[in-house]
Amino acid sequence: MSARLALYDLTRPELIAQVEAWGLSPVHGARLWSSLYYEGRGSFEEMTDLPVRLRTRLMEEATIAPLPVAREQHSSDGFTRKYLLALADGRQIETVLMRYHGRTTACISSQVGCAMGCVFCATGQMGFTRHLSAAEIVGQVMHVDRTLRATATAPTAPALAEPRHDSPHHRHERLRNLVLMGMGEPLHNYDAVLRAVDILRDSNGLALGAKRITLSTVGVVPGIIRLADEGRPIHLAVSLHGATQAERAALVPAARAWPLDALMDACRYYVRKLERRIFVEWTLIDGKNDGPDQAHAVGALLRGLDVQVNLIPLNPTAGYAGVPGRSENAKRFQEILAEYALPSTVRQRRGIDIAAGCGQLAVAESV
Ligand code: SF4
Repeated sequence: MSARLALYDLTRPELIAQVEAWGLSPVHGARLWSSLYYEGRGSFEEMTDLPVRLRTRLMEEATIAPLPVAREQHSSDGFTRKYLLALADGRQIETVLMRYHGRTTACISSQVGCAMGCVFCATGQMGFTRHLSAAEIVGQVMHVDRTLRATATAPTAPALAEPRHDSPHHRHERLRNLVLMGMGEPLHNYDAVLRAVDILRDSNGLALGAKRITLSTVGVVPGIIRLADEGRPIHLAVSLHGATQAERAALVPAARAWPLDALMDACRYYVRKLERRIFVEWTLIDGKNDGPDQAHAVGALLRGLDVQVNLIPLNPTAGYAGVPGRSENAKRFQEILAEYALPSTVRQRRGIDIAAGCGQLAVAESV
């Protein structure tokens, strides 16, 4: 494969510097950035407002590297779409677009497969293949963005749509929220993931708000500490699933590398240093971790820490026999957490019919 420059890998200053290195004005570099992210153009042919010299150079040496859609599925309730996207090396990843409660959210992947091996997760059951590049992470978001732009004129655009009014190019439903909860452990691919976040946050481009970006980790302690030390303004979600080391390690093998005590220390450090709440994710598995004893254990573990607990009834996967926690148990779990002054929510299950729910993303090995 030719070593073309992947434009989605570059931050705005890097892109402008590259255009200058080609002997063109930085103004054209800024224009190129705007074409990519503000206008959302997916090919150089569409960038007719750029000088011919720059477009020729781009066609010879660079690539936008869009991710072709190998399959697209829509949930029966119409709220969720799942895309199987093809990477240049023949691997594939899944990306999800969710539109409900007035929110438009992209759930994107950070790796092909995952090394963390959570027993109930379809991605974990795949094993780890490779990290995604920043360009491949940005490319997923831009795919979703282009999808939303394309629905601007569609008569079936849902009433939930939130049009932009600042430009004729942006009279479309706008991507508001980004969750790094797709395939892979984002903090295992820290540099590429945070580079992608920087690119997507750039105020002259897609301008995703930091407070609308949530990174979900299974508890990679060094990554949590690094996020805190770097003062990253995005939200952090930590998947707990078990309130003792033994119970957690049985569901999350990565807990053997980063034990519960160390994880809680890292969470306390993060909350104290950034003065920011953490979301704690808890997959409710019937008869396993959804009882009053576990709820009290979670309460005792988290008491006094600024967290919100998100309870997520297990979504089915082929490789795990557990079943979702029952709604009455979830309600009781919440009541017990409230006794410890811990706010909580129970996540609605959506997109299950197309295996687009939490822990359900996976692809068959394609290479
Ligand atoms: S839940 Fe997340 S960290 Fe665990 S195996 Fe699945 S993708 Fe990896």
